[in-house]
Amino acid sequence: MKERLGFIGLGIMGQPMCLNLLKAGFKVIVYNRTASKMDNTIKAGAIPAESPKAVAKESDVIITMVTDSPDVMEVVLGENGVIQGIREDSVLIDMSTISPKVTQEIAAELQNKNAHMLDAPVSGGDTGAINGTLAIMVGGNKKIFQRCLPILNIIGKTVTYVGNQGTGQIVKLCNQILVSVTNMAVCEAILFAQKAGVDPEVMIRATSQGAGGSWQLSNLGPKMIKQDFSPGFSVELQLKDLRLALESAGKMEQPLPALTLVNELFLLNKDHREEKEGTQALIKSIARLSK
Ligand code: NAP
Repeated sequence: MKERLGFIGLGIMGQPMCLNLLKAGFKVIVYNRTASKMDNTIKAGAIPAESPKAVAKESDVIITMVTDSPDVMEVVLGENGVIQGIREDSVLIDMSTISPKVTQEIAAELQNKNAHMLDAPVSGGDTGAINGTLAIMVGGNKKIFQRCLPILNIIGKTVTYVGNQGTGQIVKLCNQILVSVTNMAVCEAILFAQKAGVDPEVMIRATSQGAGGSWQLSNLGPKMIKQDFSPGFSVELQLKDLRLALESAGKMEQPLPALTLVNELFLLNKDHREEKEGTQALIKSIARLSK
């Protein structure tokens, strides 16, 4: 018999992920702080609940997809949180990107209730969420991971077990280091080509299939050239992830010089009130340096 699912947080990512689970035939109980955002999933067959606690009471596996560490703490450990309703042997899968340390703290609280937790953050953006092609990096108990794999396989195309509790979040932060440092390289290559009088579109065409190619070059590069700063992934969320990475690195005394620099440049975007724009707005911060 299929596990009964709960889904908390129906934002840009959570809503399409939940719709894919409904499409796959799972029974899903949903909760979203702003109630109107539940409408689409209810139309698709989800049952609404009044609180995270009420979701947990009816679910074998509860998925959370909210913003930051304090938000996961609130929906899980808060007054009407998951922990107030969770049953023995149920599983919380937190798919938000949050602090690895907070993840471990929440898991320990759930363990006191004989419940389990996996940290399973994702990469692939809203298109990956819509198409069910996300990359999912999972930390926690391996047997619990195997139990939840049929659910994760609906949401993602690449589901990787990476190790103990919190390591899913660590690998997600590695992903963010790769993504943002590469983003900076793309900005520099485009500005350099433009200054030298080379059409940056031609530069992208010529380099994208070679060793310099990347997702950022092929997807963010053309948007930078068109000055299309509409968000796929916002500067605001990127700054949150860079903060999480730099905090963890600081605790381990691991220098991240390139990431520190990108963080400063994204802060410059924030100073110019560009935090709701997509991460391709990074090019504006670098362009400002030459003015
Ligand atoms: P979003 O559209 O802003 O949605 C956030 C959701 O969390 C909303 O449903 C919001 O409820 C809920 N929420 C936030 N704080 C809450 C709280 N304290 N209590 C209850 N509900 C709360 O964000 P998103 O883009 O879906 O991102 C969700 C997570 O996925 C983040 O950790 C993000 O870093 C990660 N992520 C995002 C992307 C992307 O491309 N967007 C890609 C990979 C990973 P309301 O509707 O009431 O505001």
